[in-house]
Amino acid sequence: MNRAIEIVRDADLTDLTTFRLPARTAELAILHSPEQIAVLPPTDKDQLVLGGGSNTLFIGNWPGRILLNRLSGLSFEDRGDDVLVTAAAGENWHQLVRTCIDRGLHGLENLVMIPGSVGAAPMQNIGAYGVELSDLTEHVDAWDRVEQRPCRLSRKECDFAYRDSRFKSGEPGRFLITSVTLRLSRRFNPDTRYASLRDALDQAGIDQPTARQLAATVMRLRRHRLPDPARLSNAGSFFKNPIVDEAQARELLSIHPDLPHWPMPDGRIKLGAGRMIETLGWKGKFIGDAGVYARHALVLVNRGRATTADLLALINTIQDSVEREFGLRLEPEPLIIGG
Ligand SMILES: Cc1cc2nc3c(=O)[nH]c(=O)nc-3n(C[C@H](O)[C@H](O)[C@H](O)COP(=O)(O)OP(=O)(O)OC[C@H]3O[C@@H](n4cnc5c(N)ncnc54)[C@H](O)[C@@H]3O)c2cc1C
Repeated sequence: MNRAIEIVRDADLTDLTTFRLPARTAELAILHSPEQIAVLPPTDKDQLVLGGGSNTLFIGNWPGRILLNRLSGLSFEDRGDDVLVTAAAGENWHQLVRTCIDRGLHGLENLVMIPGSVGAAPMQNIGAYGVELSDLTEHVDAWDRVEQRPCRLSRKECDFAYRDSRFKSGEPGRFLITSVTLRLSRRFNPDTRYASLRDALDQAGIDQPTARQLAATVMRLRRHRLPDPARLSNAGSFFKNPIVDEAQARELLSIHPDLPHWPMPDGRIKLGAGRMIETLGWKGKFIGDAGVYARHALVLVNRGRATTADLLALINTIQDSVEREFGLRLEPEPLIIGG
C-alpha cells in the first residue's frame, strides 16, 4: 500500500547532513516510494534531493523544498556468472556492500564504508581504492523532472567521469534517481592495484585475500584515515584532487617532487590535494570550530559548533594559500548550498 507523503514545514536540516552546519528548510518532503514522486503537491519553489547528507553542506537556510529520499528495497536477478543487483535509492550504501559480500556477490569490496545512500552514489561516481561505481553500473532508474516521467539511463548515458556524472554537472537537478542496478560477479577477482591497499594486505601477510578480508582491510584503512561522521562531523574529502595537463604536472613536480600524482585515462595527471594542504601546515588547524582533520589534510571537520562563517573562512584561506604556492585553486567536492 502506498504511504502518504510526509511533509514538514520549517524543518531543521542540521542533523540531516554529516557536517552539521545549522540550517533550516521551508519544506521537507519525505519520500518512501517512487510512485510518490509523481503525486507530490505542486510547488513553485526550488527542490533539492537529499540522501544521507554526507556530500552536502547548507551554508544558509533553504527557501525551497527538500525531497528526503527514503526509498527502500533490494532485488537480485541471475545472469549466469553475474547477478544484477537493484537497490532502491534510499538504501544505505555501506549496508548494500555488506549484503552483497554476504551473498557471495563481488565487485563492491573496495567501496565498503562509503557513507550515504545508493541514490547519491552515481552523482559523483563514488570511488575508493581504485574502484568506481561506474565500473559496476548496469543502469540507473530515475524520475525525469523535465519530461515528468520515469526513465532508465544506461551506464553510457550517465556520462560518468572522475567524481562526476551527467547527474552532477551535465544536467544537474534533472533526474531524481530512484534505483541503481549493478552487475556483480559470483567469481571473486580482487582489485588490489591501489598501492596503500596492497601495502596493507602485504603487512597483514595476506597474499590472496578473500572478499571479507579485502573489505575488512579497506575498512581498517578508512577507520585510520577518516573520522566517523557519527563522532566528528565531516563531509569526507573536502577538496577534489586537481587534474592538470602533463606539462603543468611536470613543472609542479620539478618543484614538489613528493607530490602524489596519478595518470588519468585521457593523459592528464591528477595531483594530491591533501599533500598540498599538508605541506602548507594546515593539519590540525582550526578557524572557530571548523578545521582540518589532524590525520588527513583533505578532510575538514566541525568539532562542535562550527558556523558557516568559520567554514567559509577556512575554505577560502586554504584555497588562497594553495593557490599562492601551487598556482591551482582547489575546488570543494561536496555540494555547497545557499548563502
Ligand atoms: C567520512 C566520509 C568518507 C567519504 N568517503 C568517500 C569516498 O571514499 N569516495 C567517495 O566517492 N565519496 C566519499 N564520501 C562522500 C559521500 O559519502 C558520497 O558522495 C555519497 O555518495 C553521498 O551520499 P549521500 O546520500 O550522503 O548524498 P547527499 O549528500 O545526500 O547528496 C549528495 C548529492 O547527491 C544528490 N542526490 C542525493 N540523492 C539523490 C537522488 N536519489 N537523486 C538525485 N540526486 C540525489 C543531492 O542533491 C546532492 O547533490 C565520503 C563522505 C564522508 C562523510
